[in-house]
Amino acid sequence: MSNVVIPEEVSKRRTFAIISHPDAGKTTITEKVLLFGQALQKAGTVKGKKSGQHAKSDWMEMEKDRGISITTSVMQFPYSGALVNLLDTPGHEDFSEDTYRTLTAVDSCLMVIDSAKGVEARTIKLMEVTRLRDTPIVTFMNKLDRDIRDPIELMDEVEDILKMACAPITWPIGSGKEFKGVYHILRDEVILYENNKGHTIQDSVIIKGLANPELDEAIGHVADDLREELELVLGAAHEFDHDAFLKGELTPVYFGTALGNFGVDHILDGIVEWAPRPLPREADVREVKPTDEKFSGFVFKIQANMDPKHRDRVAFMRVCSGEYRQGMKMHHVRLNKNVNVSDALTFMAGDRERAATAYPGDIIGLHNHGTIRIGDAFTEGEKLRFTGIPNFAPELFRRIRLRDPLKQKQLLKGLVQLSEEGAVQVFRPLDSNDLIVGAVGVLQFEVVVGRLKTEYNVEAIYEAISVATARWVYAEDELKLEDFRKKCSTNLALDGGNNLTYIAPSMVNLNLSIERYPDIQFAKTREN
Ligand code: GDP
Repeated sequence: MSNVVIPEEVSKRRTFAIISHPDAGKTTITEKVLLFGQALQKAGTVKGKKSGQHAKSDWMEMEKDRGISITTSVMQFPYSGALVNLLDTPGHEDFSEDTYRTLTAVDSCLMVIDSAKGVEARTIKLMEVTRLRDTPIVTFMNKLDRDIRDPIELMDEVEDILKMACAPITWPIGSGKEFKGVYHILRDEVILYENNKGHTIQDSVIIKGLANPELDEAIGHVADDLREELELVLGAAHEFDHDAFLKGELTPVYFGTALGNFGVDHILDGIVEWAPRPLPREADVREVKPTDEKFSGFVFKIQANMDPKHRDRVAFMRVCSGEYRQGMKMHHVRLNKNVNVSDALTFMAGDRERAATAYPGDIIGLHNHGTIRIGDAFTEGEKLRFTGIPNFAPELFRRIRLRDPLKQKQLLKGLVQLSEEGAVQVFRPLDSNDLIVGAVGVLQFEVVVGRLKTEYNVEAIYEAISVATARWVYAEDELKLEDFRKKCSTNLALDGGNNLTYIAPSMVNLNLSIERYPDIQFAKTREN
């Protein structure tokens, strides 16, 4: 008997994450999105940041109140007939590899840009990651209630820097104090903006048709300016092209203000209409289709629950095919073991809840006592490994040293386990007894020292080290690799999984080595 529920459930799902530079408005948009999903009674409780705390104290808070960070990691809510999964990507000081890997678990991204600033550094980095899978991107130009840069210039910047064609879906009418609303190009209607309504879902005034005299009544002479400007813009800009969007080549662009909750519904409408349904996933043996009847999923993030007594961690898994049912037996492929899953977490309405079922595109949380690693696959028995869940070369490095030198073994064990979990990366130079910790974000260092103390009972401290970057090295030819290993041993190390890594003291040094050893591949990402 074929299961008709799965394809139906799959077609409802839209799973996305927000990418942005800090302060562009990700948190504010998340709050408004939830307002639309009616998932929260009142927006403003998404994270503790609004009460003046920053990432570091958030983490301390989590220690006391375990679970908080988990509830904010994934949110599911119904919108316009669809079920939307929004995955949080920490974007502040707590920036880490989790941020990168979360992007491998979504089917599309919302890119939020501060319209006074344009394309900023963090956005560029995150976009590099979405490129690995050509993830479709929806763009929101935020903060239209402030004075912004020329909208055409903003789109040019996206095209130049991020190499994506821009197709405006809405067009702003003024900005700052003169912000009147937007013209929805595809619907041919003007939606008027009202100040100070950000905390509500607004019943906006909508004027049908650009030529409508009601528009002149509503916004006066600006109406004629708008008509003129649009003629220009529509002549020059790309038209929306669904295929190009799905290939990640073109992005639909919306304008609005997250704070004013204006335009956020337009983005959600766009995501529900155009963003991909849960996509197939590549595995080593075959492509896994979401509508396959047998369950499968992969782990993209492991989060410590911060309760030192329990060592309990939650492994976040993206469901790739089939159906998760409470109490089902799953096969943990890497360990070749069957496990009964009776208490997976789902994330409806921003609360931790026991899930009865979950479908492709959904995220579930498995309790984990250290046996699950990033990238692990769970199935109903099939042996497969999902590809495309990479480790990313760290960008920050410290030497780690013990206060008590007798505990070297425990330190190494702790670091290797934490690196398997994806919390941090560890490198052991071939030529010395140093231990080097590598991270993508600074907060990872603090978390690791804290966890080494509580979970492994070792007190460690960091020392500065002059390392600029790391690359995993490979070669087709074993002899060439061996030769390279001998010649460059002072710059080589083994990572937590014993993979050979080039530790570069400077970018100049790295580039020289790349030139000098053309048979060696220097990779920025590595898959388990
Ligand atoms: P995040 O760092 O990307 O999560 O950004 P937040 O959502 O925390 O926003 C950063 C700051 O910008 C906060 O003070 C917000 O109130 C403010 N902000 C966000 N959206 C808007 C907007 O549309 N207009 C204005 N004026 N401020 C905004």
